[in-house]
Amino acid sequence: MTKLFTIGPTEMYEVTKETRRQDIPYFRNQDFSDVMLEADRMLKDCMKTAESSQGIYLTASGTAAMEAVVMNLIRKGDRVLVVAGGTFGKRFSEICSIHGAETDVISLADMEVLEWKHFEPFTANEYKAVLVNLHETSTGQLYDIELFKKFVAGKDTLLIVDAISTFLCDDFAMDANGIDAVIISTQKGLCVSPGMSVVMMNEKTAAMVKSTEEIGNIYFDFNDYMLNMKRGQTPFTPAVGICFEIRDMLKYITDQGLEARLAEVKGRTDAFRSIIAAAEGISIPSFSKSNAITTVIFDKPVAKAVEQELKDTLGYFINPSGGEAGEYRFRVSHVGALTEEETVKLAETIVEIYNRLA
Ligand SMILES: *Cc1c(COP(=O)(O)O)cnc(C)c1O
Repeated sequence: MTKLFTIGPTEMYEVTKETRRQDIPYFRNQDFSDVMLEADRMLKDCMKTAESSQGIYLTASGTAAMEAVVMNLIRKGDRVLVVAGGTFGKRFSEICSIHGAETDVISLADMEVLEWKHFEPFTANEYKAVLVNLHETSTGQLYDIELFKKFVAGKDTLLIVDAISTFLCDDFAMDANGIDAVIISTQKGLCVSPGMSVVMMNEKTAAMVKSTEEIGNIYFDFNDYMLNMKRGQTPFTPAVGICFEIRDMLKYITDQGLEARLAEVKGRTDAFRSIIAAAEGISIPSFSKSNAITTVIFDKPVAKAVEQELKDTLGYFINPSGGEAGEYRFRVSHVGALTEEETVKLAETIVEIYNRLA
C-alpha cells in the first residue's frame, strides 16, 4: 500500500478509479461533446467565472499551457511583468523571454514574502500583461491576489494567473478578482490523471487572441480550440479518458459542494501544520500558504533520510524540494483522497523520525 502526499499526481479518489476502469469510447460525436460541455460549465462555476468565458482544453502538461498562453496573447516586444518566486515563476519568465517579450521580473529571494514594495519599481511602466503562479508550488507561498489587483487597476494590463496548484485547494474567484486568463492542470487540484491542462479566458481576453498567422503554430493555436469548443470538441484527439475523469470529478465536487471540499482540504492542512509547528527543530514557513501543500523545514540536513523512511515504513510519498535546500526541507500535499487520520499519522511519524535522527 502506498499513499501519495504529493501534488501531482495526487492520491486518486475512488470516483476517478471507477472512471478509469471504463473503456475509452469514440469521441467525434454528440455524446462526447455533451461530456465536454458539461465539464466546461461545472469548471466555470468552480472558477467563479461567467458562462461567456472561453475554456481551451489542451492535451499537454501545465508548462505547455503556460507557454500556449504566452504564444496566443503576447507579441514580440510586448512588455510583461512576471513574479519569479521559485521554480515555476522562473519558468514563466523564461517562457516570456524565449517568445520575445520584454520581460521584467520581480525576483524573490528564497522563501521571501511578496509585498507591495516589490511592485513599486514597476508601477510607472505600461505592461501588456502581468503573469503569476498564484501559488508558487516549489515553496508553498500563496501570493496575495490584492497586490495584483492593485497593480493592474485602471491599466490596460492583462492579469494572467497560473492557478495550477491553488484552484480547488484554496478559495479562488476569477471574475471577482479581475483575472483575465487562468491556467490549470489535471494532476493538481483536480486530482485526476496527468495529461491535460485548461486555459480559461474571459470574453475580453478571448477576443484578443492573436491571428493564426501571428501565432505561427498549429497545435497551440487557440483560434482552432475556440471554434471547436462551440460544439464541445477539440481540434485534435484529446486524452479522451481524462476528459471523462475531469467531468466526473467536477460532478463529484459539485455534489459535495465546493465550500465543503475546500473545508475538507483545510481541515487536513491545519491538523498537519499544528503538529509540525509544535515540534522542536521542525518548522513551517511563516508566509501566507496554500492549502495545497506545506513546506516542512528541518534544522538539520535530514529531509532525504526522513523521506526515505516514510516511503520504506509506511509507503507514504512526499514531494522532495529541489536544490541544496532539499537536504533541509520537503513538501507535503494535502489534496487527494487522503484522510485526516492518515495526515496526522504522517505528521507524527515525521516528528518521530526527526527526533531519532537529529
Ligand atoms: C505543476 C505546476 C505547473 C506545471 O507543471 P507540469 O509538470 O508542466 O504539469 C505549472 N505551474 C505550477 C504552479 C505548478 O504547480
